[in-house]
Amino acid sequence: MSAPQRSYKTAAVILRGRTYGEADRILTLYTAERVKLDAIAKGSGRTKSHLAGRLEFGNEALLGMHRGRNLDVVVSADIIEAHWPHLVAPEQFAAANIVIELIDAFCEPDLPQPEIYTLLTAVLRAVGQRDAPLSLLPRFSMRLLDALGLAPPVDACVHCGAALQGRTAWLDAEHGGFGCESCRVAWREVPALDADDLRNLQAVAAAPGGSVTPALYASKRVAQAIETLVNHHLGRRPKAGVHALEFVRGA
Ligand SMILES: [Zn+2]
Repeated sequence: MSAPQRSYKTAAVILRGRTYGEADRILTLYTAERVKLDAIAKGSGRTKSHLAGRLEFGNEALLGMHRGRNLDVVVSADIIEAHWPHLVAPEQFAAANIVIELIDAFCEPDLPQPEIYTLLTAVLRAVGQRDAPLSLLPRFSMRLLDALGLAPPVDACVHCGAALQGRTAWLDAEHGGFGCESCRVAWREVPALDADDLRNLQAVAAAPGGSVTPALYASKRVAQAIETLVNHHLGRRPKAGVHALEFVRGA
């Protein structure tokens, strides 16, 4: 049997980077095959480095990697899609940051989730192209919750199973869904979703695969409900360092 290969190639999105020593950078990468990993890009802080400019936040690149004892080493990078130049405007940058924080907080290092990789690249592209990128976040959040197996049922009461169509419902984050009027007990602070909101929620939730387009914008109350649900799930994950999100202003 041959020894495990020391070199490999992987497509990856750069989630984060920090300077290490004089000119090295440590990157947090999201890859389709190995999910999240930290890697070192030696000398990439030097302007003459062949890696310079390619390993920017949000970029997708085909990376040549070498397995290291502690960290794998990035030895080459060919851009697949340069998202970074489209993410520098303040609202684009804010939206991309929330997307990446959520992916980072929800995704485990060793559980490959190609569906989430596809979702990540699709949403970064959409954020870079849209005028109001924050308004993509409720839909992105629902796709992400779906991929994680955390999506709330949107057509039936989470308690009694009654159809919600044409009725009023309330988010019950604790139970991971929406409650009908008869079951409404302990979640009085959150605004009610009326029949129009529920239709909107169902449209925002329904979608093929990792797509975040066509643009289906959440109503303000729906955006609030989704944000509350996401924060609830995040709050239950001890490693999550993400503060309360604020994407309803984009709705
Ligand atoms: Zn009910």
